[in-house]
Formats: sequence, structure tokens, C-alpha cells
Amino acid sequence: MVVEDGRTSRMMLKSAVERLGHECMTAADGTEAWELFRSQGADVIISDWLMPGIEGPELCRLVRDHPGPYTYFVLLTAFGDRSHALEGMQAGADDYLSKTLDVADLNLRLIAAERVSGLHKRLAEQDARLRALAEVDQLTQLANRHKSTEMLTHLLSLARRQHVPFSLMVIDVDHFKQVNDRYGHATGDEVLRRLGSILRRSFRDEDVVARWGGEEFLVGMYGMGSGDGVTRLYRILDAVRHEEFQALDGEPFAVTFSAGVAEFPVHGLDLQSLYHSSDEALYAAKDAGRARVFAAPSESTSVSL
Ligand code: GH3
Ligand code: MG
Ligand code: MG
Ligand code: MG
Repeated sequence: MVVEDGRTSRMMLKSAVERLGHECMTAADGTEAWELFRSQGADVIISDWLMPGIEGPELCRLVRDHPGPYTYFVLLTAFGDRSHALEGMQAGADDYLSKTLDVADLNLRLIAAERVSGLHKRLAEQDARLRALAEVDQLTQLANRHKSTEMLTHLLSLARRQHVPFSLMVIDVDHFKQVNDRYGHATGDEVLRRLGSILRRSFRDEDVVARWGGEEFLVGMYGMGSGDGVTRLYRILDAVRHEEFQALDGEPFAVTFSAGVAEFPVHGLDLQSLYHSSDEALYAAKDAGRARVFAAPSESTSVSL
């Protein structure tokens, strides 16, 4: 994008940029440039310094504060003196170019721009990959403990503000150690993957479904009480029971889970106390013979204001 209030210079710059093999849009002042940038973005902005309305360095600051892919910013200066160049760089410009148009100079700037933009793009991709690794459990592709803690805390504070229930469920695979021992760790992994996908499919997008660790999953349902939670989990338990799992040698086997459900604000006011209540219910379910879902008892209310 070429931004220049002088019509002749603007047209000359545009045609030079195009002759160098790039697409070029133009703006006649900083305000127009800012609007154009916000609607279409730009890989490179070559902007005049002095313009009516938003001036070059201010436009540069606006562009820098705007999220999104990196825009290489070149300021045009008629002054040619270093103090202006310095001020431009401090405003976030990548380079400056003399207003007396030199096509070879322009070409150098555009080559540098391509290189720097490429680097920024690779950095952003790497950043996204790292974030996904830090937030997603690699076996099940569910949110991991770290990420889900953040999401559950958010849902819980929403429930608190809106005065609606919120339920938390802890789900633990029954006798999972035996699955590993009998059929091998790879088959155990496959069971976790399948269970993760069944759980994700069984809840709404806005519910948090996470792998909390090992063979334990956590689900947070906004706007749902523990009664709803128990009903839903029994339906899922039934589906899991009828799901046929297979060992590497083809031997079929079945899997069940036990679960505990706690509800805000009845069984706890924060994530920690809710987790504690649902974990207690889970252990009661295990004790009672496994393959069942228990709600936390109402008297386990832990009002710790
Ligand atoms: P319970 O019904 O009481 O829950 O019995 P359990 O055997 O499921 O419980 P226990 O805590 O004794 O064993 C859990 C097992 O889960 C032990 C551990 O090796 C296994 N496990 C944890 N994470 C993974 C994993 O990522 N992959 C596989 N294959 N196994 C895992
Ligand atoms: Mg001007
Ligand atoms: Mg466990
Ligand atoms: Mg278990």
C-alpha cells in the first residue's frame, strides 16, 4: 500500500511498485490508509511522513498495535536527515526511503520486506504450534489439565455471575491397569483415544471436556445441575459398554468407567472444592462396584466463603 497525499508522487510510486512485480493499492492520506488497512491488510506499507489527518509515524503506530500478520512499514522522508529517520524507526517503522524516488532503492526495501514478513509468518506458525502443544493433550486431542483449568474457571465465574448451575464431573476408567496388562499399552492408548472422542461428541461445544491426566477425564457443563450430569453420563456409560474394543490380536473386550458429579453452588463454590466433591463421589462409585455414576451428597456442601 502506497500512502501519499501528493497525487503525482503517489502515482509514480504505485507504478514503480507494480513494475517491480507487486500488487499495489493506494491511499491519499493516513485516515484513508488506516481504513483500507483495517479492511484489507497489507504486506508492506510505504507511507509519506507529512499528510493531513493521520501522519506517517502515527499510522505506523496504529498498524503496529493492530493484531494480525506482520506489516513491513517504510516511511518516506523528504528531509533525508537522520533525526527524522530515527523518529520513524522509533515509531515502529522497519525502514525509511527518500522521497526522491530511486527504483533500485525501492526494490531493495521490498526484498527486505519479503524476507522479514516471511520470518514473522514462520514465527507466528511456530507460536501457534507451541500453544497447541501446551494446551492440547496429544493422545486424545482434548484440552489438557492446564488449559481446561483455565476454561473451567471461566465457565464457573460465568455461572456465578449469571446465577446458573454448573456441574463438574470426574470420569475414571475402571480397571484400566488390567487393560494395559492384558492387551498392552498401545491398546490402552487406543481405549483412551476412543473414550476421549466419545466424550467430546457427547457434550455441547461450550462444555469443557478434558483429559485431566492418566485415565481420568473431566467435564464441566455450564447451566446444568448434577442431576442432568448423572443422567447424561449414564447414557454415555451405556454407549461405552456396548462399544467393542479390540486387542491387537483381534480379541474383543469391553470397558466401563465410574464417575462422580458435583454441582455449583450446592457442592462447592470454587473449582477446587467442586473437584474434591466430585472426586469423593467417584470413589464412592468405585467402592459400590464400579460402572456407575454418583452425584456428590448434598451434605458434602463445602461453603468456604
Ligand atoms: P480403578 O478401577 O480403581 O480406577 O483401577 P485402575 O486400574 O483403572 O486404576 P489405577 O490407578 O490402578 O491404574 C491406572 C492405570 O492407567 C495405570 C497407568 O499405567 C495407566 N495409564 C495412565 N496413563 C496412561 C496412558 O496414557 N496410556 C496408557 N496406556 N495407560 C495409562
Ligand atoms: Mg505529504
Ligand atoms: Mg485413575
Ligand atoms: Mg481407573
